[in-house]
Order: sequence, then structure tokens, then C-alpha cells
Amino acid sequence: MASILDSLRRWFNNLFGKAENQSAEIIPEPTPEISIAKIPGLSCPVCSHRIIVSIEHLLSGQEIQCPSCGLELTVDNEKSEAALDALNKLQKGLNQASKIKSENRI
Ligand SMILES: [Zn+2]
Repeated sequence: MASILDSLRRWFNNLFGKAENQSAEIIPEPTPEISIAKIPGLSCPVCSHRIIVSIEHLLSGQEIQCPSCGLELTVDNEKSEAALDALNKLQKGLNQASKIKSENRI
């Protein structure tokens, strides 16, 4: 089991590292910081409130509303293409990881 966990960890580091490098290079303008912590979400650019939003929601292009100040954020698909692409890959990776996890019952 330890070896599976180790390779998963390496794979995740690899995945996150690539996603970070990619967004740093390609994103042409500052975008709200999207962190891939335990709870997916981003900080409101107006009031800095933590807006909980799923990766699926971000990818769907639907509006995101700040529960604190009511600001509506829309995802600009063109400008955010690189970021969305990275998120897409990440989501696929996460799905794969949870599938592997459940298959191996870790
Ligand atoms: Zn806000």
C-alpha cells in the first residue's frame, strides 16, 4: 500500500506543479486566486470573502456570486482559457485519483 500512496503523491505533485507553472506563464491578466485546497474556491476580489465553488462550476462557465457582498463573477472563457484548461486537467486527475483510491480501497 505504501508504494501506491507514494506514487500517487508523486503524481499529484507533478500535476499541481505543472498546473502552477502553466498558469503563471500563460494567464495574460490577474485573475482571482484559485486555490486547490481541501475546499475548492476563490477569494472575492472585492471583499476577500472566501467563495466556495467547485471546479465543475468554474468549468461550466456559470456565474459565481459572492455570498458576502453579492458580487457576480463571470468566467471569461477566452481570457481564462489557460486556467480553465489547467483546471480541466486537474479535475480529470482528481477523478482518476478518487477512482484509483476506491478501487484500491486505500
Ligand atoms: Zn465579495
